[in-house]
Amino acid sequence: MVPDDQPDRAPDAQQIDLTSNDYFMNEALRQARLAYDAGEVPVGTVIVRAGKIIARAYNQVELLKDATAHAEMLALTQAAAALGDWRLEGCTLFVTKEPCPMCAGAIVLARVARLVFGVRDPRAGGAGSVFPIATFGGLNHTVEVVAGVREAATRDLLQSFFREKRHAE
Ligand code: ZN
Repeated sequence: MVPDDQPDRAPDAQQIDLTSNDYFMNEALRQARLAYDAGEVPVGTVIVRAGKIIARAYNQVELLKDATAHAEMLALTQAAAALGDWRLEGCTLFVTKEPCPMCAGAIVLARVARLVFGVRDPRAGGAGSVFPIATFGGLNHTVEVVAGVREAATRDLLQSFFREKRHAE
């Protein structure tokens, strides 16, 4: 977790600070666990600007009885309130699961600079797995996407949630 511990890497255009990606994804995982404990599909988000978390949220579809109350949507609203601007320029959104098409669209509209997610959603992913919304060049804004951060942990959490749910039924 100490940034100075990073091994030397060849510099390239796509160089990514994996240490901080892991750190903030762990914070998103913490949110996802809150969702899990509340009986919600365990997805968590944090939004970071200049190294600081400005929004944290987890999926609250059941609690709010709102199909749009995904972690990303709630966090985008929080971040806009924190900045006093709907344009989330320079912000990175970390989310444990690849955003759905709705959230990917909202992330583009909010002009989020970078999207970092954990596990892919091969059935409905909106950031490349099914719908390339986040990276679609025809929109006014394109989001830089990083996939697979803390992938095993984010996948395990979702899998154990659905396994438990199946057993409960
Ligand atoms: Zn969503």
